[in-house]
Amino acid sequence: MIDPIGALSARLGERGWLSGDDAEPYLRDWLNRYGVVPMGVARPTGTAEVANVVKICREAGIAIIPQGGNTGLCGGAVAQQENAIILSLSRMTAIEPPDPDSLSILVEAGVVLASLHEALQRHGLIFPMHLGAEGSARIGGLIGTNAGGSQAFRYGLMQDLVLGLEAVTADGEIWNGLRAVQKDNAGYQLRKLFSGSEGTLGVVTRAILRLFPAPKKRATALVAVADFEAAVAFGTFLRHEAAEFMSALEFFSEFGVALVLKHLAGIAFPLETRGAVYILIELAAGSVCVPLDEILGSALEWGMEQGLVIDGALAMSEGQRAHFWRLREEQPEGQRLEGAQLKHDICVPPGKIAQYIENGAKICEFIIPGVRINPFGHLADGNIHYNLSPPEGDGFMIEKATALSNALAALATEMGGSFAAEHGLGRSKIALAELLRSPVERQLMTTLKAAFDPAGLMNPGVIVSSSRQRKTFR
Ligand SMILES: Cc1cc2nc3c(=O)[nH]c(=O)nc-3n(C[C@H](O)[C@H](O)[C@H](O)COP(=O)(O)OP(=O)(O)OC[C@H]3O[C@@H](n4cnc5c(N)ncnc54)[C@H](O)[C@@H]3O)c2cc1C
Repeated sequence: MIDPIGALSARLGERGWLSGDDAEPYLRDWLNRYGVVPMGVARPTGTAEVANVVKICREAGIAIIPQGGNTGLCGGAVAQQENAIILSLSRMTAIEPPDPDSLSILVEAGVVLASLHEALQRHGLIFPMHLGAEGSARIGGLIGTNAGGSQAFRYGLMQDLVLGLEAVTADGEIWNGLRAVQKDNAGYQLRKLFSGSEGTLGVVTRAILRLFPAPKKRATALVAVADFEAAVAFGTFLRHEAAEFMSALEFFSEFGVALVLKHLAGIAFPLETRGAVYILIELAAGSVCVPLDEILGSALEWGMEQGLVIDGALAMSEGQRAHFWRLREEQPEGQRLEGAQLKHDICVPPGKIAQYIENGAKICEFIIPGVRINPFGHLADGNIHYNLSPPEGDGFMIEKATALSNALAALATEMGGSFAAEHGLGRSKIALAELLRSPVERQLMTTLKAAFDPAGLMNPGVIVSSSRQRKTFR
């Protein structure tokens, strides 16, 4: 048998095969919870090279961990065994010119989301995926996790934004499904299957993405409300009132604002009055004729008359708009800088957000009295990042933290929601899936995995546990 490491380094060259200190930046996940040292990091420059890497690894029984920007929050993009390589797409960054007639663009999987936004600017087009990690997250990783972000309720998740896909299968074959059409029902929706597959079915190498005309007009407001019930009531009104013009409806709490103001420089609180909850509202339209300021202004007036809105401000400049957004987007960073944290990615039907937060708070107080709750997220689709800091001056004890996370996940399930809204399962949520999803659902996923990857070498231990995989595959 060939020496696989020799074959990989010969095939990929000095810049394409990293080991030792050079591999260091790829080895641990964003939250520094996962990652053992693998055999090395492969950095191919194109689809054919990816296929070659997969074939060499398959022959030698080496596991493959696809990695994009490594900003995933469930530990799925790093190795959990030594007999593995990380396959980084970071050198596959080509962006073809967009097709304005078909509103689509062909990109390689390693393109960083912010670079795509920048490339589209001068064409008057947008790719409507926005999230706090957009300066690092890459297209393949966004597809891998089926990312959502702040505009998902208007434009969909990643699965809705991928028209065509190219992937290297677990056998090292190239599947070319690069069709630039929305309507393609020639059998199972393979492009959608890869969305959210977290590197377990194959390696995404290129994608044709859906584009939209850039909005010509925007209206942005930040409002303070008294509690989560008021936030939900006002959010519901806004969704009816601003309807198709609504492009973001984000919420965060007073505790989250306090953490941001405490830990991050250059941010001032922009309203006169503090509330318990804040809503960031953005409307956008493709025509300058749409009276967005009036729509938003009259909605704010209604909110004040109803006693739902305590205070609010419309952004009067691009700088002010960016400032409002920074308050929202720095929520994870503010909490990270505060110290230990427990992150959750919950989704409930949007009308039940307040109920979830209230019931969740009771569970928190029962299991870890004094735990500090920092819920923030996406009001329009019910996605709550129900993140927790330990009681002041304290840490988290692993048993209690696990019991609390399990209870919060179970609550979301009971309320008709999900414990894995937009970050995937990765390695960190498999136990929850085994606990809370039906045996039928788990077995279907295991069977699917076995069909795509019979040797079990594509990101083993992600989505499907290694023990379940062993039982089914052998
Ligand atoms: C500050 C911050 C804010 C965030 N906000 C949001 C948010 O609002 N919404 C949201 O949805 N997520 C959010 N995330 C999570 C994260 O950014 C997303 O999950 C993102 O999609 C990950 O992209 P990535 O390129 O970093 O993927 P990685 O972390 O590199 O990989 C994620 C998963 O995809 C797989 N993968 C990577 N590339 C490929 C490929 N080419 N083919 C097949 N599989 C692949 C990996 O194996 C892994 O399982 C946030 C993260 C941070 C740190």
